Amino acid sequence: MELLIKNALVVPMTGDDPFMGSVGVDGNRIVYVGAEVSDAERVIDAGGKVLMPGLVNTHGHVAMTLLRGYADDLPLMTWLEDHVWPFEAKMTGDDVARGTALGIEEMLLGGTTSFVDMYGFEERVAEEADRLGIRALLGAGVLDASIERYEETLRRLLVAAATDRVRAAAGPHAPYTCNPDTLKRVKELAEKYDLPLVVHLSETEDEVRMIRERYGKTSTEYLDELGLLGPRTIAAHCVHLTDGDIAILKERGVHVSHNAQSNMKLASGVARVTELLRQGVNVSLGTDGACSNNDLDMWEEMRAASYLQKVTERDPRVLPAYETLRMATVYGAKALGYNDLGFISEGALADFILVNVDTPHMQPIHNIVSNLVYSGKASDVDTVVVDGKILVEDGRLL
Ligand SMILES: [Zn+2]
Repeated sequence: MELLIKNALVVPMTGDDPFMGSVGVDGNRIVYVGAEVSDAERVIDAGGKVLMPGLVNTHGHVAMTLLRGYADDLPLMTWLEDHVWPFEAKMTGDDVARGTALGIEEMLLGGTTSFVDMYGFEERVAEEADRLGIRALLGAGVLDASIERYEETLRRLLVAAATDRVRAAAGPHAPYTCNPDTLKRVKELAEKYDLPLVVHLSETEDEVRMIRERYGKTSTEYLDELGLLGPRTIAAHCVHLTDGDIAILKERGVHVSHNAQSNMKLASGVARVTELLRQGVNVSLGTDGACSNNDLDMWEEMRAASYLQKVTERDPRVLPAYETLRMATVYGAKALGYNDLGFISEGALADFILVNVDTPHMQPIHNIVSNLVYSGKASDVDTVVVDGKILVEDGRLL
């Protein structure tokens, strides 16, 4: 065995109870989970720490770290049209690479081991993800104005995102920025290159009104009729959904990425997460870009998602700690198309983190999952392993 983590409080997220034990890794797989201590080339003593799956951030625009704090406290359309898009129009591929490196460092240090992205120059995002060791599903962003060159864009991304760890996707921006011809072309190309889809959906009331005026249907119906919704689609936001929309998402097997903090900050509204989960839709968590959050902290995202459902439903029982942690791990991994990621089990991919719980704000431990979800912080993350490689140790990026 190459790596053994011993004396850890293991939170497996398999449905089994947390236990004190060891986790062994060979190559990029977990090969041992149990109570015994065996030998390995490298042994890490995880006394005082939790070992849990790495967090999965299922929606964002990582290079937008460069816009952190650039335009705050504005309505979505003013924010986008007068601030974000003019800034982005001046960004080069090198800028995107730098913003991506900054964002990936922030994510890794906070225990995020996989992320989903959508942006321009996505091949540069792929190169940085590959270099820094994180797992990623990267959508090449496209609007009506850039659809002509989209096949070339996808080809560039496919060259850069060619490993099993860093994968490519198509990224049609949103129903209000992509007309039916654009979306049909995206679908055609996604099929040609066998790509999953990442898209914004039903983010604001304005969007839903605009789409109803243009096409006489909801945003969800619009994407569905063009064939964009399926089991390899991750739809971000999904704030304003009718019961019919939820039925469509369920029927098509669409994965929803809930972005609680971005939706709160842009005053978009509260997604019907409790109802989506009740209907059996796979809902995971995403931070969105750092200009509408303003960080890439999945611990805050878990807490915001859970509290927001409780206050909206006027019911403290909804979105409990364990289900929230599943959204940030197992459900996120499922959205990325993995069935061997997001939990600690023999045979699973070795993406996991050690979280220091030997701190005042994490003691005492009556229920470790409650502590992680309701008291945990990104700065509690001590060690990060992705694909069997140690990327963060003692809270420092290696
Ligand atoms: Zn977004």
